[in-house]
Amino acid sequence: MKLPIPVEFRGKIYTEMDLKEPSPNVLADTESALKKGQHRAVATMVGGVLSALRSTSGDIVDRKELEQAARKFPLRSAEVAVIYSLLERDEDDGIEGVYTCPRCGEKIVCEYVDEYDDTRDHIRSLKVVNCDSNGDQIAPLIFFELSSPVDIVTTDRETLRVSDIGMRHPTVADAMTVEAQIGADVNIKFQMALMAESLERINGEEVNRSFASSYGMMVMNKISRTDLIAISKMTTAFGIDQTVQKKCHECGKVWEEVVNTSNFFVSALDS
Ligand SMILES: [Zn+2]
Repeated sequence: MKLPIPVEFRGKIYTEMDLKEPSPNVLADTESALKKGQHRAVATMVGGVLSALRSTSGDIVDRKELEQAARKFPLRSAEVAVIYSLLERDEDDGIEGVYTCPRCGEKIVCEYVDEYDDTRDHIRSLKVVNCDSNGDQIAPLIFFELSSPVDIVTTDRETLRVSDIGMRHPTVADAMTVEAQIGADVNIKFQMALMAESLERINGEEVNRSFASSYGMMVMNKISRTDLIAISKMTTAFGIDQTVQKKCHECGKVWEEVVNTSNFFVSALDS
């Protein structure tokens, strides 16, 4: 299937992947990797369910290198690989949830009671949004112009005025790095550190790794909340669209909720 966001690996861009269902071995390896970190588990699972990775010019990643390539997957593409490989094995793709009406506070319970009474959302019915790469040789970058520039002071006491940034779509490897630094809790701090880790350009100029790790977080700390939210939205623009519509049976209010697909991953490891 098509990768929602292409994978850059050893200087080449891959746009298609073939998946196989996770073997008991892959599930066991993923479960033990999960003890060391959530994203380490994702890397293990993606490496285990990939059977091929292809570029538009027909290059294919050597089987022995698929595990390395898995770490270069943008998180949103890794999520599709994990979920769709589980769907190859598991017929049941229901997601339970309890949602609260924003108008009257009524609780909407989406659950499986029996085959005639199933109000859950289903992963197969969620849309996958692909970034249209047109076979470009460059992996897509996220460009963002700050609503107001921020100044940071570098170690040589020079002021750098940042007015726009460019970042890659955060990869599994980026998340593993951040997880090792600050833990696996995916909170705002994690998101900001992940953006800093994925920083590629400042004011249109390429930044090197050591610059990104020294100043990336400084930049993120100074960016306005509104801008941070906008950037974060850009990082989730492709991949599985987790928004669903809910309707309150008390007052009729219709609103959007984000379903939690990570439960699906965790429950697959238990079964
Ligand atoms: Zn209501």
